[in-house]
Amino acid sequence: MTQTSVQSAHYVPADLPTSIRHFIGGEFVDSVGGETFDVLDPVSNQTYATAAAGQQADIDLAVAAAKDAFDNGPWPRMLPRARARVLHRVADAVEAQDARLAELETFDTGLPITQALGQAQRAAENFRFFADLIVAQADDTYKVPGKQINYVNRKPVGVAGLITPWNTPFMLESWKLAPALASGCTVVLKPAEFTPLSASLWAEIFRTAGVPDGVFNLVNGIGEEAGDALVKHPDVPLISFTGETTTGQTIYRNCAANLKGMSMELGGKSPAVVFADADLDAAIDSTLFGVFSLNGERCTASSRILVERSIYDDFCTRYAARAANIVVGDPHDPKTEVGALVHPEHYAKVLSYVEIGKTEGRLLAGGGRPAGLPEWLAQGNYVSPTVFADVAPTARIFQEEIFGPVVAITPFDTDAEALALANGVKYGLAAYIWTTDLSRAHNFAQSVDAGMVWLNSHNVRDLRTPFGGVKASGLGHEGGYRSIDFYTDSQAVHITLAPVHTPRFGGN
Ligand code: NAD
Repeated sequence: MTQTSVQSAHYVPADLPTSIRHFIGGEFVDSVGGETFDVLDPVSNQTYATAAAGQQADIDLAVAAAKDAFDNGPWPRMLPRARARVLHRVADAVEAQDARLAELETFDTGLPITQALGQAQRAAENFRFFADLIVAQADDTYKVPGKQINYVNRKPVGVAGLITPWNTPFMLESWKLAPALASGCTVVLKPAEFTPLSASLWAEIFRTAGVPDGVFNLVNGIGEEAGDALVKHPDVPLISFTGETTTGQTIYRNCAANLKGMSMELGGKSPAVVFADADLDAAIDSTLFGVFSLNGERCTASSRILVERSIYDDFCTRYAARAANIVVGDPHDPKTEVGALVHPEHYAKVLSYVEIGKTEGRLLAGGGRPAGLPEWLAQGNYVSPTVFADVAPTARIFQEEIFGPVVAITPFDTDAEALALANGVKYGLAAYIWTTDLSRAHNFAQSVDAGMVWLNSHNVRDLRTPFGGVKASGLGHEGGYRSIDFYTDSQAVHITLAPVHTPRFGGN
């Protein structure tokens, strides 16, 4: 990798684009009206590129290209095996350039480079998984002996609108692109405006892999402009959205007019519940990683830790010592464990919660900008891994999603109290239970309000399992065949094998 510097030792990837364009109908294009927005990197907080800011006219063009490719092109009509071959080539291409992808993602998002590399590899795996799944896809047939055979004719829905957030952008885009394309849909992707850099790499990856023009379209832009136009477009029958709960509510309302299919993966405030019988060393390692990896900008972060009172003091002391020892620094340095938050607006929001936390809990570690950052990181959006103990369930830092390196620890005395605390927020995305008692583990897992539960582990996902949240954390589940269900219609075809009894209206 080439290292150049714009200001002292600030790392800038080689061949960094200075303009980021839409990709519509197989061509890179600017906005029809020439609108752009500035893109910052989170270490210097200076503009490194301008991106085309999509408006209604750009969304209209992208949807028209996707609709033409769906109505008239080969993609939806290809045999699953043929589509799968293309998707495996996409996975190969992502794997082959994982280092470059990670480098660009790290530059744009501030994610530590080792974690960005893992996300790039996960993106490739998403394509492999859905390529295999679509080949193995079988649909139901129902026999009514002597009378009927009924079968499911699965059909891609049409143009899928995909709207993604800025945390792990490339991987989260793959999580939607892979099943949508595997299902035979054509797509318009609207990536997050804070982090548009890696999304434009998809265009060349898809073209080289053999995805026909018009199947993949990309429109950059602001959520309330490009995203809104995509959500309201009458030729887009379904929207897959990942982002904040309040944005999801707006999109839900805006989809109503056209009764669109929707998949919503929203915010979280997930509990890790540590019982006294847990393997404490493993629980501490895992809950540290669970909240501080990906800079804490992680939907499934274990941002509330509930700890049984008999081990509470020991847990807090050990946890805080480790948090204070986390390496915060240059996102491109492989030793860095927490990098820079994505954008100054988000940084200000996280810091404001740190200040609120100082009035709501006992500060054990962090509490603001890290001391001693080198001069060339001094402009970056850095927050020390921050630990608050004794946080009451009414506290804002217990209830609200912070989406940064901040954790709230709360003691409990009984299983019932732990469950009430775990469920006492509006969210229900994930939960992590730490105990060696088998029946407690399962009883708790089955009672907790969470779409996904891990017993004695942080978030390690099997791609076949359902993914999604309950309550304010989401609507619908993707993952495995559920994703294919979302991007397809299951048409029932009824075959009559024998004369059907028909009441003879008007035949008396
Ligand atoms: P956000 O809701 O601000 O933005 C997400 C996307 O929606 C962006 O592309 C944005 O431009 C677009 N958007 C904004 N307003 C829109 C509108 N009115 N119409 C259409 N599109 C619009 O979210 P964010 O800040 O980018 O991401 C962080 C949030 O995402 C957190 O709440 C996090 O928990 C959540 N998230 C959830 C999951 C999950 O799987 N449940 C995964 C990752 C992130």
